Amino acid sequence: MAVIGIDLGTTNSLAAVWKDEKVCLISDALGNFIVPSVVAVDMDENILVGYAAREEGILHPERCASNFKRFMGTTKIYRLAGREFTPEELSAIVLKKIKEIAEAFLNEEITEVIISVPAYFNNDQRYATKLAAELAGLYCERMINEPSAAALAARCECRKEEQSMLVFDFGGGTLDVSIVDCFENIVEITAIAGENHLGGADIDEAVALAFCVENEIDFSALTEKEKAELLLEAKRCKEAITFQEEAEMIFFLSGQQYSMILTTEKLLTASQALFRKMKQTVSRALKDAGLRSEDITKVLLAGGSSRMPAVKLFLERLFERELTNEGRPDFFIAEGIGIYTGIKERKEELQDILMTDVCPFSLGIRTAGASDEHDKMYMMIERNNILPCRVSEYFTTARDFQEIIRIEVYQGESYDPDKNLKIGELELEVPKAKKGKEGVQVTFTYNINGLLEVSVVNNSTKKQVKVEMVSGYHQLSKEQFAARKEQLEAMQYLSGEEEEHKTILALAERLFEETVGRTRQSIGILIEYYNCAWNSKSPIRIRQAGREVLQNLLAIEMQLKQFVFEPGMFEEQFEDGEDEK
Ligand code: AMP
Repeated sequence: MAVIGIDLGTTNSLAAVWKDEKVCLISDALGNFIVPSVVAVDMDENILVGYAAREEGILHPERCASNFKRFMGTTKIYRLAGREFTPEELSAIVLKKIKEIAEAFLNEEITEVIISVPAYFNNDQRYATKLAAELAGLYCERMINEPSAAALAARCECRKEEQSMLVFDFGGGTLDVSIVDCFENIVEITAIAGENHLGGADIDEAVALAFCVENEIDFSALTEKEKAELLLEAKRCKEAITFQEEAEMIFFLSGQQYSMILTTEKLLTASQALFRKMKQTVSRALKDAGLRSEDITKVLLAGGSSRMPAVKLFLERLFERELTNEGRPDFFIAEGIGIYTGIKERKEELQDILMTDVCPFSLGIRTAGASDEHDKMYMMIERNNILPCRVSEYFTTARDFQEIIRIEVYQGESYDPDKNLKIGELELEVPKAKKGKEGVQVTFTYNINGLLEVSVVNNSTKKQVKVEMVSGYHQLSKEQFAARKEQLEAMQYLSGEEEEHKTILALAERLFEETVGRTRQSIGILIEYYNCAWNSKSPIRIRQAGREVLQNLLAIEMQLKQFVFEPGMFEEQFEDGEDEK
């Protein structure tokens, strides 16, 4: 039974494994490495995942959910075709699909997974991720920070060379910047700085707002549907300018057409405030590591948003040097996590690699101010402490005859606890006594998965409370967990072939609707050809026709400059050298 690594991304997910002494990305029967993190329910009540769900979502957005990683650890509910889903249930559906793909790819049962999470994920978000894995029937003993996984992949590339790397991991919803020292066989994360809400989606919004300003449209007056359409168009153009100088953004409103030419320079101007935040994050990571920009020997880009030429340009200006394009930014994390599966399985060829990680934010408790009456944050574990770590402190009562000591736990850097994120609280009874005479020993234990446990003990009574800092919402009883798992399993899923079939037809039909004339005619012929193959029920014919039809459809889509599918998808077919019409 193999352990696989999964990069469960906001937009796309990938899986990798350590196999035959190297890292290997897992692909489905059509050769795709990427599974879009999208779930939909079709008209026949089937659950669709990945590309099939994305296609369904283009025609029926109300039946489709995406970007749910952004809401992991919250109580948000998604309603699709009359059914309710939590973000972790949607993630579990994606993980279940990846499990199936991996089992077919490796020809063995997968029971365990290592999942990468943004370094800035808090306890609730990490628990929700673990819960998603368990709901998908996967044991998840280990989670690894995404930038650390990227660093591991880079270390394997630079071998034993000594390096001070900066990993700029910019995804759909988060930015993590980490400083990594690599020497000999050691990969040491020395500092992490990040933003939990700064990602590609914010760039889309900035571009959409610039579009509104240029066209004198009031963004706030648009309906939710119009806003969603405009944001989608902004995303399409943002991605298009990775491959071409400029892209025309077009949007129809009340029957009128509006447009704007988007270039990298324009994107930089529109997102100035976001790039300023990125600069602050980079500076903080460098400062925490005690380094200057010139000490960095290598800048590594990871995450889908790092593909933007604007990001490379920004970092080149910041570091005053040219950056080389190494590897594929959106595969780095998956590759790193694949390497980590080998380390966890104690593969001989990886036995000498040692990786240390750090706590990305400070953790502390609210304490009463002694002289100024203002509560303040008492830092128990400061950011960038090496993991795992344990810190213990003694706190006494603040009032005469106090009966209960309440410990409120926060995450963040501010002096004022109210400006930090409250992640939990504990209470313990203490014997009544004069102020300062009784107290509790508070212990913070932060493990390698980035999960915090807090214990409070009173020395006189020896009473103790020990709590994992996670909101009650994620602490399911055995029965509740079993019921939710059963519910997910009872849903109707399509088989791999059926889902491929549905994806190909949906793509063909959408392109048929979007085109006219000869192109449309040839799409019609492709649909007919593919349907004939499907009706023949011959698996070989179906697969072959599927590949051919897909290639043709993708070529048409490229011509239309509609990058619905990521470049790199179906690359196996293109590499095979089969004719691209
Ligand atoms: P991730 O969470 O790492 O999957 O990153 C997803 C984000 O990457 C989304 O905001 C995408 O819009 C963005 N992205 C993916 N491909 C490109 C591209 N070619 N150019 C710009 N952004 C991209």
